[in-house]
Amino acid sequence: MKARSGATALAAFLLAGAASFAYAASALTPSEFLGFEVGADRKLADYRQIAKYFQGLKAASPRVEIEVLGKTTLGEDMFMAVLSSEENIRNLKRIREIAKRLADPRGLSDAEARRLEKEGKVVLLVTCNIHSTEIGASQMAMEWAHALATASDPETLHRLKEVVLLLLPSLNPDGQIMETEWYRKNLGTKFEGSRMPWLYHHYTGHDDNRDWYMLTQKETKALTRAVYKEWFPQVWLDEHQMGSNGPRIFVPPYADPVDTTIHPLVWREVNVIGTNMALRLEQAGKSGVIYGFSYDAYWPGGTKNTAWYKNISGLLTEVASARLATPIDLPAGELAGGRKGLIEYGPQTNFPNPWPGGRWRLRDIMDYERIASDALLESCAVHREDFLRDMVARSRHAITAFGTTDAYRIPASQRDHPTALKLARLMEEHGVEVKAADNGDIWIPLAQPYGAFVNEMLSEQRYPEVKLVAGKDIVRPYDVTAWTLPLMMGVTVEKAALPGGLHPFNPRAEAKVTVAGGSVAISPGSPENFRVVNAALRGGGTAAIARAPFMAGDRRFAAGTVVLDAAAAKAAGGVAGETGVSWVAVSAPANLEKLKSPRVGLYKPWAASMDEGWTRWLLEQYGFDPKPLDNKTIREGKLSENFDAIVLPNVEKDTIATGKPHREETDMRYFAELPPEYAGGLEKEGAKALKDFVESGGTLIAFASASDYVADEFNVPVRNVLARSKPDDFSCPGSLLRVHVTPDHPVTYGLPAELAVFQDGAIAFATALPGLEMERWVLAAYPEAPRDILLSGWIHGEDRLARRSAAVAMTYGKGKIVLLAFRPQNRAQTHATFPFVFNSLYWSVLR
Ligand SMILES: [Zn+2]
Repeated sequence: MKARSGATALAAFLLAGAASFAYAASALTPSEFLGFEVGADRKLADYRQIAKYFQGLKAASPRVEIEVLGKTTLGEDMFMAVLSSEENIRNLKRIREIAKRLADPRGLSDAEARRLEKEGKVVLLVTCNIHSTEIGASQMAMEWAHALATASDPETLHRLKEVVLLLLPSLNPDGQIMETEWYRKNLGTKFEGSRMPWLYHHYTGHDDNRDWYMLTQKETKALTRAVYKEWFPQVWLDEHQMGSNGPRIFVPPYADPVDTTIHPLVWREVNVIGTNMALRLEQAGKSGVIYGFSYDAYWPGGTKNTAWYKNISGLLTEVASARLATPIDLPAGELAGGRKGLIEYGPQTNFPNPWPGGRWRLRDIMDYERIASDALLESCAVHREDFLRDMVARSRHAITAFGTTDAYRIPASQRDHPTALKLARLMEEHGVEVKAADNGDIWIPLAQPYGAFVNEMLSEQRYPEVKLVAGKDIVRPYDVTAWTLPLMMGVTVEKAALPGGLHPFNPRAEAKVTVAGGSVAISPGSPENFRVVNAALRGGGTAAIARAPFMAGDRRFAAGTVVLDAAAAKAAGGVAGETGVSWVAVSAPANLEKLKSPRVGLYKPWAASMDEGWTRWLLEQYGFDPKPLDNKTIREGKLSENFDAIVLPNVEKDTIATGKPHREETDMRYFAELPPEYAGGLEKEGAKALKDFVESGGTLIAFASASDYVADEFNVPVRNVLARSKPDDFSCPGSLLRVHVTPDHPVTYGLPAELAVFQDGAIAFATALPGLEMERWVLAAYPEAPRDILLSGWIHGEDRLARRSAAVAMTYGKGKIVLLAFRPQNRAQTHATFPFVFNSLYWSVLR
């Protein structure tokens, strides 16, 4: 894409920096550097070009620094630009120290705090393009950085003196590259600007912005470290794009509901900044600016949302999308509201100047974003001392909101100790202070700057039922309503008074594992066991499973206990040490069944499925080796030659069958075509191939809505009693529900009698007595009393779940089927129910 003159220009650009003369005049604009007009129709710079541009800018300007935060999932350098006055750039170490001190003001006197508020700078974080199709901000970032690096007007110089801007042009560089490549490939065809038939983050797709409390992905981890351990920003803006046919830009204030855990000064600052954005946009003649729309102030899963609970003013902008860089035309009649804060498209107090319709292009997106970004910088400069003082006030409030000895204890004695350890390590990674006692208990004091975050993650949620109009429905949540980590992870955590004599928790400490040369037994119960068993088998050792309880010496081992021989224990010793999985030396009993690694196929629809990506990630992390199965491969049949188990992730049944999702919410049946090689679903041949696979001995495992597909296509005595329910009858947007577990089935080995499942759909099973050709087991069921069902979150119509089954297994021909009526691995968070998945995979290779 880059013209030859661009390369020459780059050399001059870099030279100019080295010679350190008149940098302001010599820094190339992005368009000069790239050799095309940035923001023009059908032109996109990819992440590698953007990174080169920023390198050049850094070489040319002493106002710019570059920090590489880490490698992305696919191996790119994810960078952050630091932009400020030349003096601030020289003084970054001190500025960071002050930001850190203000974020944790324990022991700081009022006088000292005042002094630091005077001396310090606002550290402002702006993240762009976490969602790869929302590509405008990745392009805008270059223009904004150039303007800041070269400005000589007093107003911009003042802003740069008051503020240190941390700017990430993309929070998902891999996806930015995928989208630009896909876009360029289809340019000039009827698929120009179309959606990609795969995820724009290798594992998580759009859910890359749902990972901010579990911190599973490399990008999330890298930025989390930079924010909560290194830079301690006071303000964070995350720049997004939304659908095309509503308002042109959302700026804060947010919509209802609001989480009262979060300090109100967060909202006051967010509102001041958002209102200034709206003002500057209106002054610039930009119509269609809305606030109080769709996006709420509740739920800690997104980038800047998690930050609210850590005393940071987190903002969101959402600009209407084009088709990437291809302009679109929207007649007035197609403009619509339909979301909270704007039901009918038209003027309201939060939307006084609706956009009238017309042509909408990448340049418009970038212009709106640029005005909002400059307004943000302005607000931070104007309110520098206020914002630093508010940070101290919020942190002090968090430290004193609970009693000085209020704490959470993670007892050393746990059903699933390795996952408890994982929870403690996760809290530490979040910048939370974690302590340990000599007896192995882990303690998390609440009297600390991130105390509100700790409390939010470790306690139950009750969704606030806010009504905007008397007698009408409550305001529905934007995303899930439960994130209680102890329930999701199956870890016992108790509130208790903080004892003395604690020492810092060392997240990297490894458990001591003895490899004495004999067999060892691992009791079932922890999902982490599977990392160990899979490592043992990969290392060439022998592993065998007890199908019934057994005694060894005077110790009883439960059904599902895995015994490793000496070679297996040696191969898996390192993994056991890291994960904290413990084992005991045994002389192996006779009647064990030998294990082999299950060969796993994972269904991958072309309507890219985030649950497929998360499942793939989870299986890889736990040492399985899933192979992708697309529609064509399944339709070709002969699946049992290559697979023991096939997993259908949570994909809606019409998408599996035909490739076209069924859209409940609108009457619109239109679905934009994908290129022909990605069109269609399993069709009739695919359904038959799956049936042949199971009948000849394979195991089929379906998650949540995919079980509707199995119930339709296979002759099974199971049906979804909520299949035709309406939201008025039943609604569960992502809550933790209690189920009772049937013990001692290979799919439930090691699970407790009762646990929390994550439910975000309308699905519950009724079963029936099958004929003699089939066996069926109800593996988990909801309690009899509706009031016992909800553990955390929000649910409507829970009586519809009472006594219904949540997990069912059956034989089918020579094979097996497992249907799970919940999300067994929602976003790789629900460790408590991972064993349903891993046990099912191993069931496929058992007799
Ligand atoms: Zn987005």
